Amino acid sequence: MVNILVSACLLGVNCRYDGSSTLIKNLDLLMERYHLIPICPEILGGLTIPRQPAEIVAGRVIYRSGEDVTEPFQRGAYEVLKLAKLYACKHAILKERSPSCGHDEIYDGTFSHTIVEGNGVLAELLASEGITVLGESQIENLL
Ligand code: SF4
Repeated sequence: MVNILVSACLLGVNCRYDGSSTLIKNLDLLMERYHLIPICPEILGGLTIPRQPAEIVAGRVIYRSGEDVTEPFQRGAYEVLKLAKLYACKHAILKERSPSCGHDEIYDGTFSHTIVEGNGVLAELLASEGITVLGESQIENLL
């Protein structure tokens, strides 16, 4: 069975910044066809649950308080890349608009729910390694 990385919060794991998750629909259909590898780069980078919301500002990841948390975000992304290579993943289903997992669209760094073009830290890294990144709204493409 093909291995696919999946943001753990999309599988119901309460690892989001506020201790919540966002369970996806059609999980059973996905699991019939693929072996899902749950990952959370922010937790693998050493951050806590709960933690502050973060957004990307000029290439740096910043907590709402202003603290620069780029380093743990990057560390976690590289830990996920290790798993991607270990499991030979060619695809990842990542939570949309997250500063780690968001692909093509993220928040603009003003904490005002304004969306701009861009990638989260993990999505950027995986895409640069040739892994196809899909958001949860694109799961139908895999079914
Ligand atoms: Fe979900 Fe990714 Fe945020 Fe972890 S880092 S909670 S997997 S969106």
